[in-house]
Amino acid sequence: MPTTDNELTELGVAAIRDGVVGGAFTAVEVAGAFNTAAAEAQAALNAFIKLTPDKALEAAAKVDADRAAGQPLGKMAGVPIGMKDLFATNGTETTAASNILGNFVPPYESTVSQKLWDAGAGMLGKLNLDQFAMGSSNETSAFGNVISPWRREGSYDPVDALAVKALLQPWQYANLPDGRFFDSSDLAPGGSSGGSSAAVSARIVAAATGTDTGGSIRQPAAFTGISGIKPTYGRCSRWGIVAFASSLDQAGPMARDVRDCAIMLEAMAGFDPKDSTSLDMPVPEWEANLNPDLRGKKVGIPREYRMAGMDPDVARVWDEGKAWLKDAGAEIVDINLAHTKYALPAYYIIAPAEASSNLARYDGVRYGLRDLPQGAGLQDMYAATRAAGFGAEVKRRILIGTYVLSAGFYDAYYTQAQKVRTLISRDFMDAFQTVDVILAPTAPTAAFVLGEMMANPLDMYLNDVFAVPASLAGLPAMSVPAGLDRQGLPLGLQLIGRPFDEQGVLDAGLAIEARAGFTARPAKWW
Ligand code: GLN
Repeated sequence: MPTTDNELTELGVAAIRDGVVGGAFTAVEVAGAFNTAAAEAQAALNAFIKLTPDKALEAAAKVDADRAAGQPLGKMAGVPIGMKDLFATNGTETTAASNILGNFVPPYESTVSQKLWDAGAGMLGKLNLDQFAMGSSNETSAFGNVISPWRREGSYDPVDALAVKALLQPWQYANLPDGRFFDSSDLAPGGSSGGSSAAVSARIVAAATGTDTGGSIRQPAAFTGISGIKPTYGRCSRWGIVAFASSLDQAGPMARDVRDCAIMLEAMAGFDPKDSTSLDMPVPEWEANLNPDLRGKKVGIPREYRMAGMDPDVARVWDEGKAWLKDAGAEIVDINLAHTKYALPAYYIIAPAEASSNLARYDGVRYGLRDLPQGAGLQDMYAATRAAGFGAEVKRRILIGTYVLSAGFYDAYYTQAQKVRTLISRDFMDAFQTVDVILAPTAPTAAFVLGEMMANPLDMYLNDVFAVPASLAGLPAMSVPAGLDRQGLPLGLQLIGRPFDEQGVLDAGLAIEARAGFTARPAKWW
C-alpha cells in the first residue's frame, strides 16, 4: 500500500481512483503528494502558469467526505490533474499563455473542466502552453517556455546564459536562469500542450487536459513518452475553451497510459447544448470495453506517410508497430491517402483564417488587456492593445488569416483549402471502407532542442505533418509511446480511427502498449 509522497506520485488515474475508492489512501494524501511534487518542479520546468494547491486539496477533501458518507464516487475520484490554461476556470486566471488575457479571471467554468470536477478530479494548477495554442514547442508562451523533463543521453552543455539572453526576445528567455550558465541542450516538450506533456511525464500530475487543433495533444505526448487522445470532433464540448480554430479544436486527455486516457475521456466527453458542434451521442464505456485482441481487424499503413528522408528511428518504430499489431491478431494492409501532402498547407490556411476571426474579440473593450495611450481614440486603443497583448506567432497567424480571407484572395486560398480538406476527409473515408484503424508515426522527429526551430516557422510547422490530416477530417487519433531514438528520446506511434470509434483507437493503442514495453522515464534532475 503506497503511503509516502514519492509512492503516491507514481500512481496514475486508475490506480489513484481504485486506491481512493478502496480506502488504501485518502484523496487528501494524494493531492498533498502531487502539490509538493508540482511546486518542487516549477522553477526548473515552468510547466504551470499558476499553481492552485488549495483547489486540489479542496476537491480531495470533498471526495474523502463523500466516501465517508457512503456517497457514490465519480470516475476521477481523488485524481489530481493539471488543467491546460486554455480552459476557463471560474475564479482562477485563464490566460491562454497570452498577455492579452494576462489578467482575465473568468466568471464561468468550461464544460470539460466542470465535468472533470464533477467526476471527482482536483486541480493542481493551470498548465503552460503555446500562446493561444499556436505552436509545436511551447516556446510562444508569454509566460516563458516549458523545459522538457527529458534529456538526451549524456548531454550537458553549459553555456553563458547572459550571452544567450542578449540574442533573444524577453518572452523567449523568460524561463532562462539568471546565473551565468544553463544547459543549451534543454528540449522542447512539444506543443501546444507542452505544460501538460512535461507535467505528466515528470509525474507531477496524475494526468492533464490537452487540446488538439492540429496535433497539440499527440505531438507533445510523443515527445515526452506519454499517451494522449484527440477524440472525434464534437465529442468534448468546446464551450469555455479559448477558441483557436473552431472547426478543428478538440479537448482530450493526456495521461501515463491508454487505460488512464480512456477513463479521463469518459469524464470529459458528452453532449453539451452550449456548443452547437457538440455530438449528441451517448458516451461509451471505453474503459470497461478495452480489448487489445485485434483478431479480425485490419490496420492500414498509409504509403504517403513514408516520406523521403524519414528519420530512420521513426521508420524503425513504425515497422515495429506493424509487427506488434500483427501479433495482436490484426491484418496489415497498405493504403493510400493521396492528398496527404496538401494537408499541411491547407491547415496553415484554415487554422489561421479561423484564428483571425476568433481573435478579433480581443479589442481592449470587453475583457483582458487594455492599452489606452494618452489622448487616444478607439482605433488607437485597438491597435495599442493588440500590439502589446499578442505575441509574435499570434500576430503572424492573424496576418495570414486576414490575408487568406480578404476579398481578393479568398477563392485562391481559403476556398481551395476547404476543397482540399474535403478531399482529405474522402481519402480517409475510402480507406475506412477496407481498414478499421490506421497506424502512422505521430511526429517526424523526436523532441528538438529549445530554440532550434524558432528561427524558421516553416520548420516548426512541418513538425505537424503527420498530425494535421486527422484534425482536418475530425477523426479520433491517439499517440502512444513506442520506443526510444538513438539519443534515448521517446517516439510515439499514432492510431487514427473512424469517426466515433475511439474504442478502436484505444484498443489498438493498448495492443501496442502491451508489446512496446515502454518503461523509460526522465531521470529526475529538477
Ligand atoms: N502546432 C500546430 C499549430 O501551431 C497545432 C497546434 C494545436 O494543435 N493547437 O497550429
